[in-house]
Amino acid sequence: MENSINVTLKKLGLLAQNKATSTGENWFGAEKNLQAIISPVNGNLIAEVDMATADDYDAVVQKSKEAFSTWKNVPAPQRGEIVRQLGQELRNHKEDLGKLVSYEMGKSLQEGWGEVQEMIDICDFAVGLSRQLYGLTMHSERPQHRMYEQWHPLGVVGIISAFNFPVAVWSWNAALAWVCGNVSIWKPSEKTPLTAIACQKIMAKVLKANNLPEGISCLVLGDKNIGELMAKDPNIALLSATGSTKMGKSVATNVGARLGKHILELGGNNAIIITENADLDMTLIGAVFGAVGTAGQRCTSTRRLIIHESIYNVFKAKLVKAYAQLKIGNPLDTVNHVGPLIDKTAVKNYLDAIDQCKLQGGNFIVEGGVLEGEDFKSGCYVKPCIAEAKNEMEIVQHETFAPILYLMKYKTLDEAIEMQNAVPQGLSSAIMTTNMREAEHFLSVNGSDCGIANVNIGTSGAEIGGAFGGEKETGGGRESGSDAWKAYMRRQTNTINYSTALPLAQGIKFDL
Ligand code: NAD
Repeated sequence: MENSINVTLKKLGLLAQNKATSTGENWFGAEKNLQAIISPVNGNLIAEVDMATADDYDAVVQKSKEAFSTWKNVPAPQRGEIVRQLGQELRNHKEDLGKLVSYEMGKSLQEGWGEVQEMIDICDFAVGLSRQLYGLTMHSERPQHRMYEQWHPLGVVGIISAFNFPVAVWSWNAALAWVCGNVSIWKPSEKTPLTAIACQKIMAKVLKANNLPEGISCLVLGDKNIGELMAKDPNIALLSATGSTKMGKSVATNVGARLGKHILELGGNNAIIITENADLDMTLIGAVFGAVGTAGQRCTSTRRLIIHESIYNVFKAKLVKAYAQLKIGNPLDTVNHVGPLIDKTAVKNYLDAIDQCKLQGGNFIVEGGVLEGEDFKSGCYVKPCIAEAKNEMEIVQHETFAPILYLMKYKTLDEAIEMQNAVPQGLSSAIMTTNMREAEHFLSVNGSDCGIANVNIGTSGAEIGGAFGGEKETGGGRESGSDAWKAYMRRQTNTINYSTALPLAQGIKFDL
């Protein structure tokens, strides 16, 4: 495997001899601050990566501001053409980039490729959008006046991303930001910097080929200290931050203190309601993929199943049987369903959550545990587990980023919806039913309070065409499709008087 990973690194322009440093592509670092990147797949060192200092960060900001003065004057459809070329380059690199995502982050190879496909999809979306940044026209209340609104770029858009979608979240933000005329500075998770460097190199190549300033797309590697600099920096016109609710509260405070703009994409605590009218075979696939896909490390992972009492035992038995068939192991081997957690801290959090669940009265019907042996030598492989629990238990209220699934029973649909909504987070939700009245009630104003509400689809796996994000402690931000682009631009209302008089609004008289 080592050899094949080295080939992948080389094809992505990363040095194969365990050191991934680079200059000239607006990625700063001069081997001052090296950090080891360990693969959760096998515990091996993949590379040492140079983390930025505060001075590096300042230099990056300067570069991006300079680039903005050029980029904002490039017509939007031409900006779209650059994003089209990025999409093409991503197609060329899909296999290698997907593989590196899988090796660095630990998600399955299929999901790694899926993540790159999402990047390609958002590029396509952004290309179309580059000709559709529409403003409205309005009728003025004054004669011979015209009113309309137009959208201008904001400036520097900061992007802070989480480890679990190491590349897709960047592209959701960056592709929209660029066609809108902004430049971007990306601070990826300190746990997954290599895939970020690979993406940066791909975009740098596109910019160079088009004779455009490299500062249009900037990368700054670092931990939360760099993130905090971005949050406090008035040069960052919009900060789009993806991560835990804890991080979001800090970012919101820092950006709010300077009255800046932010998009927050934070933790979820997603439930599927399974009614007595559900197709249970279909439900099983949605529930198991939602709970164990990406080893339970998706913001949209299914954490709770709220099951009607009449089918509870039948469905529980199906779940237990399905879990017994799960294959845990190297995510690059496509026979496996579940790969590792990101690191040993995540393993500790998983074990602590299991202990807490037991202490708070949870009953495990599929036990958890850490896998041992040569195949699991990274120490990051854990067993997906299932506990019968109560919604109000403190641990159930909390997002544990691991494959722990809580089961609970309900009698009436209103009770199920109340349980589904009774958590601090509001990202994704689903109902499994073949009954139209149940489905529509769930989608109505009296139904799910989440940003995403699905019928007969699990909670995880969103398409780029819709606006993505959630309510309450999930942060309220929206990115990706629909009209999410509006958050990346500033709206200007224009009133033009082509008469010979100067009538005031509201008929106010003011004669000289
Ligand atoms: P994290 O909060 O530890 O880190 C996320 C990013 O924020 C990293 O780049 C980190 O360096 C940075 N950061 C941390 N503290 C910061 C601070 N005070 N100021 C500025 N930046 C800071 O999260 P993680 O462990 O990488 O990712 C898992 C979390 O992300 C989960 O809660 C998951 O639900 C959430 N997530 C949400 C979405 C979504 O779209 N809603 C998508 C992916 C992940």
